[in-house]
Amino acid sequence: MAGWFIDSHAHASTTGLGYREIVKRFKAAGGRLIVFVQLPPSSYGYSTDLEGVRKSLDTHIGICSEVRKELGGVLCLVGVHPATVDRLVRSSKNVDMVYRELLTSYMRALEDLLRKGLADGLGEFGRPHYPSPPESLVVNELLLVESMRLAKDYDVPIHIHSENSGFITLESIKTFTNLVGLPKDRVLVHHVPPSQAPLYAEAGFHVSVVGKAEVVKELRGLCRNVLVESDYLDDPKRPGAVMYPWDIGPEVMRVVEAGIMERECAEKILLENPASFYGVSK
Ligand SMILES: [Zn+2]
Repeated sequence: MAGWFIDSHAHASTTGLGYREIVKRFKAAGGRLIVFVQLPPSSYGYSTDLEGVRKSLDTHIGICSEVRKELGGVLCLVGVHPATVDRLVRSSKNVDMVYRELLTSYMRALEDLLRKGLADGLGEFGRPHYPSPPESLVVNELLLVESMRLAKDYDVPIHIHSENSGFITLESIKTFTNLVGLPKDRVLVHHVPPSQAPLYAEAGFHVSVVGKAEVVKELRGLCRNVLVESDYLDDPKRPGAVMYPWDIGPEVMRVVEAGIMERECAEKILLENPASFYGVSK
């Protein structure tokens, strides 16, 4: 077993441990690469409005880029979480304006970062995992399509957050990627329940599952196209949620030691698959 692992989807805030501390602890535990995905505005102390979303982008990419340069082993993904889009839509009397602003100003800012090589990919885009008004769904899906277009044009990975409804979720992601012409191997469906992982993986998408032993053991030997994530929130009100990035390696190895997963499979999901998905050398 190579003594290192990759966290395929994590978050850092300015109210919790913060980017630097997380990367330091992650590396000390044998972590090689951690993928930081932008959080909602409240995680950076901003209000949930269009200005707050814009400020979150600046804060996230600012700190993330610094830490990437300083410590290495970091990727910075930019986007707007479907739950944030939902809150913007719900709190506005003018849904058209919210959509136009996000599309013509915010998405262009993301494009600019991709063009300049300042962001490494896109995420999270998709749909909320809880019931939301129809307008929220429409705006989220329009932004999802636009983000897929950017992922295709700039050849970068994209993380999808979804309702995890299995077959119909797969069909919708498949339909959107086909329409846009985005190669499936650029798409990571994140925080997927292990029972649904084979569905996406067999269709050619990548999935990431939470790296806790009780989740990983439910993969039942599936390793192709599977990555592991902490989805760490860095929220001081929920310390350790969803899990700490540095626990990924030990947790997966517990499943191997229990004889439930082959060592080669663990190496694939911890190292080989994410290294090839993100295009970094092993
Ligand atoms: Zn996340």
